[in-house]
Amino acid sequence: MKCDVLVVGASPAGLMAATSAARSNAEVILLDRDLGNLNHPANTIFEGMASRAKVEILDCYVQKELQGMRILSPSGHGATIPARGYFLDREKLDQYYLKAAEAAGVSLLRDEVKYINRHPGSISVSSAQGEIRARVAIDASGIGSHLAQKAGLKPMRHPQDIAWAMEAEVSHPGLGEEMFFQYWIGSMAPGWKATFSPAGGDRATLAVFVRGHGPHVQSFFRSFLKIFKAYKSSAYRDIEDLKILSVRSGGDPIAVLPGQVVSDSLMVVGGAAGQSGLAYSMRAGQICGQVAADATTSGDVSRQGLSEYERLWNAEFRWEYRMGRAALETLAGMKDGEIDRMVQRLSGKALVSEGGLFKKSFHAGAKVFLARPRTVLDLAWNLARG
Ligand SMILES: Cc1cc2nc3c(=O)[nH]c(=O)nc-3n(C[C@H](O)[C@H](O)[C@H](O)COP(=O)(O)OP(=O)(O)OC[C@H]3O[C@@H](n4cnc5c(N)ncnc54)[C@H](O)[C@@H]3O)c2cc1C
Repeated sequence: MKCDVLVVGASPAGLMAATSAARSNAEVILLDRDLGNLNHPANTIFEGMASRAKVEILDCYVQKELQGMRILSPSGHGATIPARGYFLDREKLDQYYLKAAEAAGVSLLRDEVKYINRHPGSISVSSAQGEIRARVAIDASGIGSHLAQKAGLKPMRHPQDIAWAMEAEVSHPGLGEEMFFQYWIGSMAPGWKATFSPAGGDRATLAVFVRGHGPHVQSFFRSFLKIFKAYKSSAYRDIEDLKILSVRSGGDPIAVLPGQVVSDSLMVVGGAAGQSGLAYSMRAGQICGQVAADATTSGDVSRQGLSEYERLWNAEFRWEYRMGRAALETLAGMKDGEIDRMVQRLSGKALVSEGGLFKKSFHAGAKVFLARPRTVLDLAWNLARG
């Protein structure tokens, strides 16, 4: 088989890359080993992130609207951020974007890629069903497949910093009707966060995302479950009876940062490229697919020709990802007592800054923050304290 653009992985990034390449008239094949039975974890998105990533959230896959998030410290002090969010029906979301890809002309194939093989001026993948040749291949197969690494790229800058997650779907009468996502920080989930996301009715998800302790994070999940139940015990008398319906684990490249994401005839996008998050990886997929299609039209699929993708992504997201990493590194160095005091000070303050002043000062602030994250966080807490 042959095509212009071959996308490996029906991840959010892969779906958007395939669709945007096909809409620019490239002949596109998208293959995924689990096609027909996709089972992806990410289920919560906030409107601010989606609009920043130019992604529209559609009613057809929204399961529940959220009014915002509460940041919670180890002792349960909370600061509220009023930011509209959504719990998504992930199966419906995947189906929606698969149909959009098909409507754009993408050929969908259920197949598992073993290797990506590089040739002068083209590329091929070896899959369970044989070999497929393309002018450009896009690896959107998530953090676990290492296809780009096996083809000689280093698409993540800090692969050791993947946050390993354990997430449970839980059920308890009324729990899913809560209106705020909870974002716990502290030693219950070192290096990043523990979360509660209400899904409507009796359903919700509880998760821990931990950095620096390897992929087996069950003990952190058990501790968080105890903290969560204690926190909820006044609102739900029988919270000890909370049922765990299913559990999944996986990795999230929140602090990894993209590395080498382009080579001759090869591009890497989404989790495989250290681009974490549903909305942001969808936007990265759009940019990547567009550049791939343009390169096949112009005939320059060299590293240089494809590097427009890196340039465009850097212009939109580089600072934000670097700030995110610096903030996580700062948090990781803080003790529970410090986090408690910090969240306590923020409690009751307006935490969302709207408008032009924030946007204008963003780049200058970003540079200072990267140089001295602790100082800037301290300053922010003091300003919030008034
Ligand atoms: C437990 C958990 C919860 C999360 N929750 C959220 C959340 O609520 N909101 C959010 O924004 N982010 C969340 N994230 C992060 C989010 O999942 C990722 O950042 C991103 O959305 C997932 O996309 P991905 O590019 O990593 O690909 P994946 O979602 O991992 O998809 C990769 C696809 O490639 C396919 N594939 C893999 N290898 C091959 C191969 N060799 N051949 C063919 N196909 C292959 C797989 O079948 C899969 O369909 C969560 C992460 C985890 C682990």
